[in-house]
Amino acid sequence: EGEIDYKEEAKFSQHLKKGEAVSDFAKSKTIAEQRQYLPIFSVREELLQVVRENQVVVVVGETGSGKTTQLTQFLHEDGYTIGGIVGCTQPRRVAAMSVAKRVSEEMDTDLGDKVGYAIRFEDVTGPSTIIKYMTDGVLLRETLKDADLDKYRVIVMDEAHERSLNTDVLFGILKKVVARRRDFKLIVTSATLDAQKFSNFFGSVPIFHIPGRTFPVNTLWSKTPVEDYVEGARMEQMMSSSNKVVPKLLILPIYSQLPADLQAKIFEKAEDGARKCIVATNIAETSLTVDGIFYVIDSGYGKMKVYNPRMGMDALQVFPVSRAAANQRAGRAGRTGPGTCYRLYTESAFLNEMLPSPVPEIQRTNLGNVVLLLKSLKVENLLDFDFMDPPPQDNILNSLYQLWVLGALNNAGGLTDLGWKMVEFPLDPTLAKMLLMGEQLGCLEEVLTIVSMLSVPSVFFRPKDRAEESDAARERFFVPESDHLTLYNVYQQWKQHDYRGDWCNDHFLHVKGLRKAREVRSQLLDILKTLKIPITSCWPDTDIVRTAICSAYFHNAARLKGVGEYVNCRNGMPCHLHPSSALYGMGCTPEYVVYHELILTTKEYMQCATAVEPQWLAELGPMFFSVKDSDKSLLEHKKRQKQEKTAMEEEMENLKKVQTEVERE
Ligand code: ADP
Ligand code: MG
Repeated sequence: EGEIDYKEEAKFSQHLKKGEAVSDFAKSKTIAEQRQYLPIFSVREELLQVVRENQVVVVVGETGSGKTTQLTQFLHEDGYTIGGIVGCTQPRRVAAMSVAKRVSEEMDTDLGDKVGYAIRFEDVTGPSTIIKYMTDGVLLRETLKDADLDKYRVIVMDEAHERSLNTDVLFGILKKVVARRRDFKLIVTSATLDAQKFSNFFGSVPIFHIPGRTFPVNTLWSKTPVEDYVEGARMEQMMSSSNKVVPKLLILPIYSQLPADLQAKIFEKAEDGARKCIVATNIAETSLTVDGIFYVIDSGYGKMKVYNPRMGMDALQVFPVSRAAANQRAGRAGRTGPGTCYRLYTESAFLNEMLPSPVPEIQRTNLGNVVLLLKSLKVENLLDFDFMDPPPQDNILNSLYQLWVLGALNNAGGLTDLGWKMVEFPLDPTLAKMLLMGEQLGCLEEVLTIVSMLSVPSVFFRPKDRAEESDAARERFFVPESDHLTLYNVYQQWKQHDYRGDWCNDHFLHVKGLRKAREVRSQLLDILKTLKIPITSCWPDTDIVRTAICSAYFHNAARLKGVGEYVNCRNGMPCHLHPSSALYGMGCTPEYVVYHELILTTKEYMQCATAVEPQWLAELGPMFFSVKDSDKSLLEHKKRQKQEKTAMEEEMENLKKVQTEVERE
C-alpha cells in the first residue's frame, strides 16, 4: 500500500473544534440567514441584471456557492414565475430530489406544492408548482410533447460541466428553443472553468462569475502507488487500532440507489463531539454540498458508463478520474475552513496519467435512446445535429444498427410504426420492444410486470448473516426456465397477498422495490391506455411470454458451452450463468438463453436470463441467426428425453417381469 504522510493528524483536534463551530452556526442561524451567507447572495442584483439583459447566460461558481438552491429562488423573486415556471435540470436523480426538498424548506412550502421535482417514474409536482427541479432526462422527454417548452419561462441547466448525455442533447435542442422564443431565458451553470465552451456554443453569451469564498486545501500525495484503494482509504480500522480515545464517528454512505430517507442523513447535524464520515460515490463531487467537511480522501477512481463496442453494450467500469474531477474532490475540504486532501495516488500519476478533463458521456456510451428520440424529433441526419462535441460516428452507426435490428428503424433509417410507439415509453429501446411484442403476442399483462420489475433495483434481500435462509426463500419463487418469469412470479404472489409489507419481510423481499415496481407498472399502464393498447394475457402459456422476452434481446443471445458457461451467439464473448439464476434449477442447463445485461465482477455474469428456443432466435432475428439441423429445439429435446425415460422405465419393468417369471420357472 502507498505510504501516506500523517503528520497532519496533529491538527485534527483543531479542526474538530471548527467542525463544532460550523454546526453551531447552522443551529443558531435561521434558514433565511443561512441563505444570506452564501456567496451568490452578495451578487444577487448584478446577476439578475445580466439575466434581464441577456437571453442566455453562463454562470460559474464554486460548488456550494448557492447556484442550485438560490438561482431558481432569485428568478422567482424577480417575477419569472408569473405566467410560467422556472425549471432546473440535474444530471442526477438524487440531486434533483434533495435540492427540491431543501428549496421547499427555504420557501416554507410543502414539497410538491410551490416547489417540486420530477424524475423518471416519479412526478412530485402539482398545479401550483412554480419551481421545478428535474433530471435532464425528464426535460428531454418533455421536448417530445412540447417542442417549444412553452410552460417554462426560464430553464437553468445545472451542472453543465458534468456533460451528461442528456444535458449534451438538451444543449442542441434548447439552442433552437432560444432562437424561436424571445421570451425564454436559459441559464447554464458550471462548477468549473470550462464555461467558455458553453458561451461559444450559444454565440459568445456573457459569463457571470460568482466570487468564491474558499479556503486553502493542503494536498498530500501517496508516495508510492496504492494497490488497493479500498484498503488505503479504510480509516475506520486505522483509528480503532491507534489505541487513542477517539470521539464518536458516524459513517454515512451516499450513492444514487440509496433510499431517500437514508440519503437525507448526510445533511443532519451530528451530535456534539461526534464526527461524520461520508462515504460517497462521485455524487458528492459537485452535485451535493455538505457543510463542515475538512478532510477528503480521494481514491482517484470513479465508476463510469462506457460503451464497449466488442460486447456491443454499456458497462459500468472503474476508471481513474480526470484532474478536473480530482480538484473538485479536493475542493470539498475547503468550504468552511482550511482543509486537507489525501490523494491515494502519486503526484506523478496525477500529472502524467490522468486526463485533464473527463470524456463527455455522449462520446463514450450507447446512443440507442438518444437516436430514437432525435429521430422522433425529425432530426433526419444525426451527423448534422448541433452537438457541442459530436459522438464518434461509429457509435451513431452502431446505435442505428441496433435500432434497425429491433425493428424500430426501417431500411431508410426512418422510424417504423413500432419505433414511433417505442418513443412513447420512458424505457430503454430493449424494454420498450419487449412491451410492444407483448402487445403483438397477446401477453402484455405478463410482460408489463416483467418490464416494471426490471426497471427497479433487485427486490431480493440477502443479508450476509442470513444468506442461506434468504437463498432458500428466493428459490421458492423460481420458475426453472426463466429469471424473468421468476420476477413475474414474485410480483404475482405479492399481489395475491394484497401487496402486504410484512409478507415481503417474511420472504426476504424489499418492499420498497416492489412498491416502486408497482408504481412503474401503473405509469406504463397509463401510457398503454393513452395509446389505446388493450391489455391481454396468455396465462398459463409461458412459452408465449418467453417469445416476447426473446424478441427484445437478440444482441444478448448466448449458447451453452460448458456447465453454466455460455458464449454470446454474435460475438463469441464468454458469459456465465449467475449462481443465483433460476436456470440452475432446470437440471440440465438450457442450450440457448437470452439475458438482460452482462455484469462484470469476477467473471462476466448474465443478469436475468431466460431459456429460449433456437427457432425463435431465427424467426425473430433472421439477420443474425439461422437454424442448423443440428440445433435441436430445447422443448423437443426435453420431450424426447422424457419419452426416452418413460421407454426406459417400461423396459426396466418388462425386464423385471421377465426376470421374475424366469426365476419362478
Ligand atoms: P451549488 O449549487 O453552488 O453547489 P447549492 O445551492 O447546492 O450550491 O448549496 C448551497 C448551500 O445549501 C450549501 O451550503 C449546502 O450545504 C446547502 N444545502 C443544499 N442542499 C441541502 C440540504 N438538502 N440540506 C441542508 N443543506 C443543504
Ligand atoms: Mg449545484
